[in-house]
Amino acid sequence: MKVLVLGGGVIGVTTAYFLAKAGVEVVLVERRRGLALETSFANAGQVSAGYAAPWAAPGLPLKALAWLPRKDSPLTIRPDGTLFQWRWIAQFLANCNARSYAVNKTRMMRLAEYSRDCLRALRDELYLNYEARTGGTLQIFRRRAQLDAANRDTEVLTRFGVPFRLLDEAGCMAVEPALQRVPGHVLGGLHLPNDETGDCYRFCQELAERARELGARFLLDARIERLLPGQGPGHGRIAGADVMVDGHSERLIADHYVVALGCASRELLLPLGIELPVYPVKGYSLTLPISDVTGAPLSTVLDETSKVAITRFDTRVRIGGMAELCGHDLTLRPERRAALERVLKTLFPSAGDPGRGEFWAGLRPMTPDGTPLVGATSIANLSLNTGHGTLGWTMACGSARLLADSLTGQRPEIDREGLTLNRYSRNEAGWGGGVMVPGLR
Ligand SMILES: Cc1cc2nc3c(=O)[nH]c(=O)nc-3n(C[C@H](O)[C@H](O)[C@H](O)COP(=O)(O)OP(=O)(O)OC[C@H]3O[C@@H](n4cnc5c(N)ncnc54)[C@H](O)[C@@H]3O)c2cc1C
Repeated sequence: MKVLVLGGGVIGVTTAYFLAKAGVEVVLVERRRGLALETSFANAGQVSAGYAAPWAAPGLPLKALAWLPRKDSPLTIRPDGTLFQWRWIAQFLANCNARSYAVNKTRMMRLAEYSRDCLRALRDELYLNYEARTGGTLQIFRRRAQLDAANRDTEVLTRFGVPFRLLDEAGCMAVEPALQRVPGHVLGGLHLPNDETGDCYRFCQELAERARELGARFLLDARIERLLPGQGPGHGRIAGADVMVDGHSERLIADHYVVALGCASRELLLPLGIELPVYPVKGYSLTLPISDVTGAPLSTVLDETSKVAITRFDTRVRIGGMAELCGHDLTLRPERRAALERVLKTLFPSAGDPGRGEFWAGLRPMTPDGTPLVGATSIANLSLNTGHGTLGWTMACGSARLLADSLTGQRPEIDREGLTLNRYSRNEAGWGGGVMVPGLR
């Protein structure tokens, strides 16, 4: 079997690896000159199964109303001129209730926990060097109300068997000694010892190398222009992909096609009548060299107040987060940089000089219910691996393994319930984002 993997971010690279490992002939097509140069480039680095939860949560609409007028609001909405933006927001709000939250969280945690196990197995087997750390993540609270909310949230962790510790200020300082330098700033925290961190970009480069050794080919600087619907006996199937390489259009033909194009997935599939509910949710990060090792975090610290994560790599620290709904706009806004610098200065003032930081923005490919789209479509030889939103690095290995097992006839190791586009069929979710296209059915 020959499979074309469309997109070379962390989702495409992991998919290519697991397919190649299963003996499949793989060609990955990526428009950039290298792999993982878009959203997978400078994310916050957390492999955080313990925090796998949809942003669409009960109470979020009220919180968002309070945030929106604030200058340093973690969430901003700017109309992008499409109806899709408002439909997506409406669908997101429709998920902000206790029942949907429980369903979505269950699906996300199932995949995220599995994914972390797959990542560990890969690391042990392949000795991947991506600046991994296994010290867990620490969410810190600076207000009493946050601590009370955390106490309530731990019920879910207990239900899912996720190990955790609720800590006071001294406990937080024991986990992250650099916090001793800023006494009085932290009231308490939630430590998830099973979480991990690492540089997603480096991971992609290392894993791609191993996939190459297994025979996978990576076609870079190659833009997929369109997927061709089959005609006649090929009706209901994809017949090929037109790809622009070196200014020339080439037709690539495979037995199966996997869409892993992140925020570009929706656009490519619209002409086929497949409407993916994947919206770009912009976030920012700032990465700086560490100048004082003892003043830097040891792993990831999540600041609940500003909703940003501060992650330690070998010799760098990265601070990232925020959410803007503003279409595909990647403008680097100075006020966002200033906000990231402020949080770093408050919690880890001597970690490094923010002025030397590399400022970056990326677009999270996000579904309204937070759960990715992994698996079949109604087109027989077309599958999806996209929509990983806030947790693509966390869920990449599990999603890729699940898809590779499904395509190669292996029994998947976790239940696929609720992970495919089917959940957005008109009857189930009211999205109407099914796959009804004249000519393809
Ligand atoms: C600020 C921020 C912080 C984050 N922090 C975390 C975190 O701590 N932990 C976590 O788990 N996740 C995090 N995420 C989310 C995570 O980074 C994403 O979910 C993940 O990178 C998505 O990977 P992807 O492969 O789907 O998309 P991408 O990495 O965007 O890959 C898609 C690829 O498709 C290519 N492509 C698009 N169109 C075409 C075309 N026509 N032809 C050829 N190639 C094409 C693109 O060039 C790109 O390389 C964060 C995201 C942001 C923005």
